[in-house]
Amino acid sequence: MDCAQVLGAYSFLMATTDFPGLLWLLPVIVAPFIGSFLGVLVVRLPGGERVIFTRSVCPHCETQLRPLDLFPLLSWLALRGRCRHCAARIGIFYRLIELAALAVALWAAAVTSDGALLATCLLG
Ligand SMILES: [Zn+2]
Repeated sequence: MDCAQVLGAYSFLMATTDFPGLLWLLPVIVAPFIGSFLGVLVVRLPGGERVIFTRSVCPHCETQLRPLDLFPLLSWLALRGRCRHCAARIGIFYRLIELAALAVALWAAAVTSDGALLATCLLG
């Protein structure tokens, strides 16, 4: 499925749903995940590290993070900014990128409608 198909499906949903006001939530929920992935790209690509099929680890104790630890912003808040295993303080770099992506999505939701919202969120 390419980007045009995703936008078409999203536009169709916006045009046919009984609750179009709720569909702006999807990009807003997805945006922090996209921001988190962008952070992974920024950190790993310059060092030649793999970005897919590699699990995230704590940079201090190198314990592999569980899926529950990988929810953008929410995991950081739930763990109060510390690693679940070694209690080391987790850096704010990823949180800033996740917050920036969320801010873009909220801005896009405020100023656009229909398929343009999804495109704005995905393309910045
Ligand atoms: Zn740790």
